[in-house]
Amino acid sequence: MTAHQDRFVAETNVARVRFGDPVFNVIGEEIERLGAKRALVLSTPPQAEIAQDLAAAIGPAAAGLFTCATMHTPVEVTEDATDHAKEIEADCLVAMGGGSTIGLAKAIALRTGLPQIAIPTTYAGSEATPILGQTENGQKTTLRDPKVQPGVIIYDPALVATLPVGMTVTSGLNAMAHAVEGLYAQDRSADGTAQAVDGLRAFADGLPEVLRDPSNLSARGRTLYGAWLCGSVLGTVGMALHHKLCHTLGGMFDLPHAETHAIILPHATAYNAKAVPDLLAPVAEIFGGDHPGVALYDFAKSLDAPLALKDLGVTEADLDRAAKAALQAAYWNPRPLELSAIRALLQDAWKGVAPRS
Ligand code: NAD
Repeated sequence: MTAHQDRFVAETNVARVRFGDPVFNVIGEEIERLGAKRALVLSTPPQAEIAQDLAAAIGPAAAGLFTCATMHTPVEVTEDATDHAKEIEADCLVAMGGGSTIGLAKAIALRTGLPQIAIPTTYAGSEATPILGQTENGQKTTLRDPKVQPGVIIYDPALVATLPVGMTVTSGLNAMAHAVEGLYAQDRSADGTAQAVDGLRAFADGLPEVLRDPSNLSARGRTLYGAWLCGSVLGTVGMALHHKLCHTLGGMFDLPHAETHAIILPHATAYNAKAVPDLLAPVAEIFGGDHPGVALYDFAKSLDAPLALKDLGVTEADLDRAAKAALQAAYWNPRPLELSAIRALLQDAWKGVAPRS
């Protein structure tokens, strides 16, 4: 049962979302709908080939290709790509990839005002948010601006079908983390809560199916639908302890994004379940068992997800420093942050044992 809310303020991000059509068949029509004639196609280096295929499908309306999108949106890469967009007189951006490529399109849009078409190939959810994280001189800063929200999103399940199984699992758990934190967000709305619950259900049903058969497009579609819902939640409410811990650990030890989310999620959920058991009750209901944190741990384990920070190269000696850093410039959280409890949480996440219920 989801806790009912009598009053709320909901801020929604408007985008045209096209779900389920093969992207190669509809991309031309979507560019035309924008009134654009000179698209710049963006990707990471490993996805350059599929980006070239997309440009070929776009035909004469593809004015250029930039295939150097990089994790955490370094400003130097954005400046190169923005110069390229200006040189070729691009009038729209087409980003095909995960959060890194979509982040690059957002960063160019912020500087140029160009309209964006986002075509996600992971479950990270950046396409559904007006949030942009950028790095300059090793420092990551995050902004929220309607200008960076892609106006068109094309979800094609065939694109996530090429995600390796390991990345499918960690990216899915990364998406689920947005929904879990959305359930207890200070600025949550009834609408966002319904999206979060449906998003979690889509992954609970879809991910085990995808693991049984990674090429099952119906199951891939179910998980991609979940990614849209979970990303939409991220785009409309503030995140709390889980995201703070992931940003802190990621920044301090240069950890991989999705894996860190996958490992921390059960532990941050267990920490907050002590303060808001009613709000987190849907998690236990969806994933089984009595305790939301343990339910997520068991689900992650059943998918063979990474469970331990020590496997990402974090040492036990790092944990004191990380716990202290997590308490600095803390995000709002439903349970006050207590140093010894956060340190204990990190110890469990480091070892990879089930969270304390
Ligand atoms: P990613 O975009 O960095 O992709 C990781 C790797 O997987 C890349 O090499 C990419 O080319 C490859 N890849 C992507 N899709 C593939 C596919 N279908 N098949 C094969 N390979 C594929 O990873 P991500 O987890 O999607 O994004 C992480 C980044 O996005 C981080 O920088 C994070 O901060 C950001 N992010 C931002 C938001 C936001 O709202 N601003 C939300 C979520 C994530």
